[in-house]
Amino acid sequence: MADRDLASPGAPTDKRGQPDPGQTRRSVAVIGAGWAGCAAAVELAQAGYKVTLLEAARTFGGRARRVDTDRAHLDNGQHILLGAYSETLRLMQLTGVARDQAVLTLPLQMRYPPNTGGMDFVAPSLPLPAPLHLLTALFRAQGLTGEDKLSLARFTTSARWMDWQLHNDCSVSELLERFDQTPRLIALMWRPLCLAALNTPPERASAQIFLNVLRDSLGARRRASDMLLPRTDLSKLFPEAAAAWVEARGGSARGGAKVQAIRSIEGRLWQLDISGSAVGGTWSTYFGGVVLATGASQAATLLHDIPGRDTSALCARLTAFEPEAITTVYLQYDAAIRLKLPFYALRDDPGNHHYGQFVFDRGQLDASQAGLLAVVISASGPAAAQPQELLAEAVAVQLAVDFQWPELGRPDWFKVITEKRATYACAPGLRRPANDTGLPGLVLAGDYTAASDAAKNYPATLEAAVRSGVAAAALLKRSAVQ
Ligand SMILES: Cc1cc2nc3c(=O)[nH]c(=O)nc-3n(C[C@H](O)[C@H](O)[C@H](O)COP(=O)(O)OP(=O)(O)OC[C@H]3O[C@@H](n4cnc5c(N)ncnc54)[C@H](O)[C@@H]3O)c2cc1C
Repeated sequence: MADRDLASPGAPTDKRGQPDPGQTRRSVAVIGAGWAGCAAAVELAQAGYKVTLLEAARTFGGRARRVDTDRAHLDNGQHILLGAYSETLRLMQLTGVARDQAVLTLPLQMRYPPNTGGMDFVAPSLPLPAPLHLLTALFRAQGLTGEDKLSLARFTTSARWMDWQLHNDCSVSELLERFDQTPRLIALMWRPLCLAALNTPPERASAQIFLNVLRDSLGARRRASDMLLPRTDLSKLFPEAAAAWVEARGGSARGGAKVQAIRSIEGRLWQLDISGSAVGGTWSTYFGGVVLATGASQAATLLHDIPGRDTSALCARLTAFEPEAITTVYLQYDAAIRLKLPFYALRDDPGNHHYGQFVFDRGQLDASQAGLLAVVISASGPAAAQPQELLAEAVAVQLAVDFQWPELGRPDWFKVITEKRATYACAPGLRRPANDTGLPGLVLAGDYTAASDAAKNYPATLEAAVRSGVAAAALLKRSAVQ
């Protein structure tokens, strides 16, 4: 029976249905199978804990997952990983994901379609030490004036000199002004990079978090600045491999299992009420520890309702995040349609209905997706307000104009996916909660938590989620869940 299967790893009860503390102590529930929850589950299973991974949705991956539509298997949004995503890449490898098959590795680049007045900037594939790879790319870059190049060199030199640290956080726009960046470099390089990495426009984005990302990519060894494009769907890329890995170590992973309530039992155990198709009704079960790896607002709802615990201060912090949307417009053409490069930056101009910021040729990543282009719009509020047909049409026209290729204006079909709560606005001085909730044996994991070392704080990304999951597992291992 599904419910018994679900209950078995985490719910060793005695004959009267009461929790058996002796057996329950080393069992841990991970609530949420996004990338943070999956990372925590893997780390705990590796440490010998009996892990139960509970996911409300049918598909694992959370905000980076496969979406099954009537036409095709798509992702909820095109993602890019960086070579600097060290923890994500480590756990992918641990769980048996073959990197070369799973992602296409490209050197750092910002390449616009020719004739759009953009630029062509690409790091050399030679293994040059930083910052030589960047300087070489700068020297070779086309579409930038001498003044633009000098301004970029000035930025990286100054940032290195400051050790990528600001005394007081400010907006990315203020930082760029302080470093005397040219309007063209801002438009072609810094703004798109800031939108892609922080999903927040430079006027509102945290300069310190931006510098943290630049330090680990532009400022580090060349491989850290590589851009990795998923060749498989996002659920396969890590979450499903992680779930299988946990199950192979005696744990269990269930989709369609929503945690409705959390209760503390005598301060030693945690009781979860779980409902959904995987459990066939509602089921209560007990664990020695809990990793709460949902989004921040869902975590607040569950924490708020824990009887006998005052979590109001933490809940206030969890509900203070401002959501930012990301829209991906998928356009399917004839399978013979192929761009020259796997992806391009685009010059967006919402005033003229040019919303697209990057376009990815999925066919160059996965042969089964030949002719499928994915156009990404970060911080997509105004674009997402458009009716989907109009938005898709506008994006198709933008591609036809930019690539001077009329066929791109006439896709066979399209699919617009807007994630309204894709990330949180990564504003200056944002206060993020730690993994530690102050409740023994209950920790938080998610892309929104603060790193123990502030210099390691990342924006809402896969790497932030995975690092948070790893930190949550480490905390639980150190705590009373022995
Ligand atoms: C469209 C889009 C594009 C993006 N692009 C990039 C990119 O290019 N590069 C990058 O690094 N990052 C990107 N991101 C950000 C990245 O996807 C997220 O930062 C990351 O996936 C967050 O993972 P998480 O585990 O912290 O949270 P989530 O993915 O939100 O996981 C939380 C999980 O908890 C589950 N859950 C919630 N409540 C319950 C409950 N009561 N019981 C059981 N389960 C529950 C949810 O269903 C969900 O699966 C993008 C995000 C989106 C949406």
